Amino acid sequence: MSRFFSSRFASLAPYVPGEQPQDQQYVKLNTNESPYPPSPRTRAAVSDAELARLNLYPDPTGTRLREAIAARYGVKPANVLLANGSDEILSFAFMAFCDAETPVAFPDISYGFYPVYAALYGLAAEEIPLRADFSMDVDAFCASRGMRVLANPNAPTGMALPLSEIERILSSDPDRVVLVDEAYVDFGAQTALPLLAKYENLLVVRTYSKSRSMAGARLGFALGSEALIRDLETIRFSTNPYNLNRLTLLLGEAAVADDAYYMENCKKIAATRERAAARLKELGFTLTPSQANFLFASHPAVSGETLYSALKAQGVLVRHFKKPRISEYVRITIGTPEQMEVLFAAIEDILKGDAACAPQR
Ligand code: PMP
Repeated sequence: MSRFFSSRFASLAPYVPGEQPQDQQYVKLNTNESPYPPSPRTRAAVSDAELARLNLYPDPTGTRLREAIAARYGVKPANVLLANGSDEILSFAFMAFCDAETPVAFPDISYGFYPVYAALYGLAAEEIPLRADFSMDVDAFCASRGMRVLANPNAPTGMALPLSEIERILSSDPDRVVLVDEAYVDFGAQTALPLLAKYENLLVVRTYSKSRSMAGARLGFALGSEALIRDLETIRFSTNPYNLNRLTLLLGEAAVADDAYYMENCKKIAATRERAAARLKELGFTLTPSQANFLFASHPAVSGETLYSALKAQGVLVRHFKKPRISEYVRITIGTPEQMEVLFAAIEDILKGDAACAPQR
């Protein structure tokens, strides 16, 4: 820390993203990207003529893309906010809806950025413990003070709440914002979108990074009541009105038009997930019931950290969190069937090695 750094950030522990090696030497199953590229029609949206227009600022209102998203989800453009990845929406929401009087609540095991934004904005954060089986204690959530934030499906467990439980949280206090982070919803969980018409306090957050194969383009959006979106726009225009570049806006529009391609990919990924879960169970793993594009797995003979390192040594990257309650697990992003075969072969090797040298814990 330099002597210039504000003392209010003295104890800020920043978010640590998963490894992003810049060569191709790994089978990359560590940051929940799609293993499939964007559709050909999406890629064609960035023409040379469009690149030649980069001398011009983008549309700060993102009107065309907001209209396309609104039509896709059956809402009005005034119900849509665009951002540079859904992380930026989370940042805007924590800034907009919380303060010294209004804290924020989220599960103790969830997306690692929630506590970081809470710390960044100096908010009191209430971490609601998940039960021993990682299921959500909805009653505790309903009793919490402040904005409620939950990922559905949750990360890194992949476990989803039914719509009825989300509605219970929404209706428990209509004066508190409920942010439902649906980064992984397209892989099999129930979306909260049908509740938008009924609850002004609902903010649904989506990303193009997973189901839309565009983690590299940085595009996220939120759907919510006009009142909530207006507040978030105030924050956006006070932060960075040009948060979306021209190319990403075009890619986003093209991807909405090619929705069938992406939904088909989601189905493929969900089917690969189910086959992978069965295979890992045969190999002795314990898994959470994931509805997302990843599996959360632990093995009685190998610690999470050992498994992570041994897989990395074999050229397969997965994610390990050195965190209480989950340090025995690894999170494995669902890749192509071929990538998953490489993973299984590496795991079989590691488990055989372990059997020969005695368990490592
Ligand atoms: N929410 C959750 C639950 C996530 O796992 C991620 C991915 N790290 C994000 C939000 C952020 O995704 P992005 O900023 O790429 O849209």
